Amino acid sequence: MEKDQEIYQDLDRILVTKEEIAQKVRELGLQIGRDYAGKEPVMICILKGASIFFADLIREIPLPLTTDFMAISSYGSATKTSGVVRILKDLDKDIVGKDVIIVEDIVDTGITLSYLMKILMQRGAASLKIAALLDKPARRKVQDLHVDYVCFDIPDAFVVGYGLDYDQKYRNLPDIGILSPRIYGV
Ligand code: 5GP
Repeated sequence: MEKDQEIYQDLDRILVTKEEIAQKVRELGLQIGRDYAGKEPVMICILKGASIFFADLIREIPLPLTTDFMAISSYGSATKTSGVVRILKDLDKDIVGKDVIIVEDIVDTGITLSYLMKILMQRGAASLKIAALLDKPARRKVQDLHVDYVCFDIPDAFVVGYGLDYDQKYRNLPDIGILSPRIYGV
């Protein structure tokens, strides 16, 4: 997609380009490949925001992994987290004795992931790690959440693109950008 397209005009600026994303995702895939050598991790995609990151990441991991999908509610169409987390779609398979990697789009307050970690821990996984595309450390509210793999630390701004949405839009932007506050009426 060219950068003169209309949806790019809703951005204040581009934060991470698609080339930078591709490079980091490749490095992360190789690192997970090394860390899980000899294992068959279960990669869990947190829908919908992580879907594009997930599709790219798993193709960079040179292991016989399996995939599963989970959908949880977080933001709706607002730009601040509510703290209420609900499972909309659960995993298809159980994870007892498995090495699980949760793949998430962005860690903001950490409320969503810390809740997810708690419930997946109770299901008897052999190990449980988190791979996040983006992290906003300045916004963290849950202090004891350890994010094992992160592609990019970003400032406290609302971002869209590469799977991340505002009101279900902008997921198809190849780059990650800061959404102009005029779009969400601030
Ligand atoms: P947390 O529970 O860590 O506060 O929120 C995590 C979820 O909030 C993410 O999975 C994502 O859906 C949403 N979120 C947090 N920050 C952003 C952002 O800058 N842009 C978008 N599109 N979603 C965000």
